[in-house]
Amino acid sequence: MQNDMERYQRQLLIKYIGEAGQQKLFNAKVLVCGAGGLGSPALTYLAAAGVGNIGLCDFDVVFPSNLNRQILYTPAELGKQKAAIAKTKLEKFNPDIKVTTYSERLNESSAGNIFKNYDVVIDALDNFPSRYLINEAAYKSSVPLVCGAVCELEGILTTIIPKENTSCFQCIYPVKPSVALTSKTFGILGAIAGIVGSLEALEAIKLILGLNCLKNKVLIFKGIENTYRVKDLVKRKNCKICQ
Ligand SMILES: [Zn+2]
Repeated sequence: MQNDMERYQRQLLIKYIGEAGQQKLFNAKVLVCGAGGLGSPALTYLAAAGVGNIGLCDFDVVFPSNLNRQILYTPAELGKQKAAIAKTKLEKFNPDIKVTTYSERLNESSAGNIFKNYDVVIDALDNFPSRYLINEAAYKSSVPLVCGAVCELEGILTTIIPKENTSCFQCIYPVKPSVALTSKTFGILGAIAGIVGSLEALEAIKLILGLNCLKNKVLIFKGIENTYRVKDLVKRKNCKICQ
């Protein structure tokens, strides 16, 4: 290993990681779609763990209303491209890693072409149309997809593994909402996005290490009750994506 291992000393002590697991993390390629409320903690903890190749997809700029949860950004960066700011900060935070940015709105063909280069994709988006699009692209590209979402004081998390023909995002939400829901239409507390974004990073790290993940299951976190429940996800008959 070429990297300074002292940085990873405390996680090397974990029996599920060790030097062999750390090497897997160095070699891994993880793409995070969305560098906002979920993406900020997910990207930060992937970088902290030494995931060697991180892709970051976000076409947006920083708005004042982002700052209650999007902890990669400061008021001095308002109006600037999130992808460029996040890349600079993450590579400074951990010089062992390489961050590749995609400052574009994904469409079906671009998503498929980008996803093929990654071991895991993380859905850290804030709207249904984009989630459906990357669910389909991940399935077509046979790339595992970690999906996280938050609303007010609640969050959900699931992992889709196309090669194992697991249930998919569209099995959970078969009917596309008539109104394009975005984070501008409902409340989000930053701490809740922080929890679910961190869980997404954990799920990606477990996938890289070959550990148990939330396939065919959904985790439901309710902040007001302090509860985490894991429920089985039933693969929906006639799902257009995963059947
Ligand atoms: Zn499905």
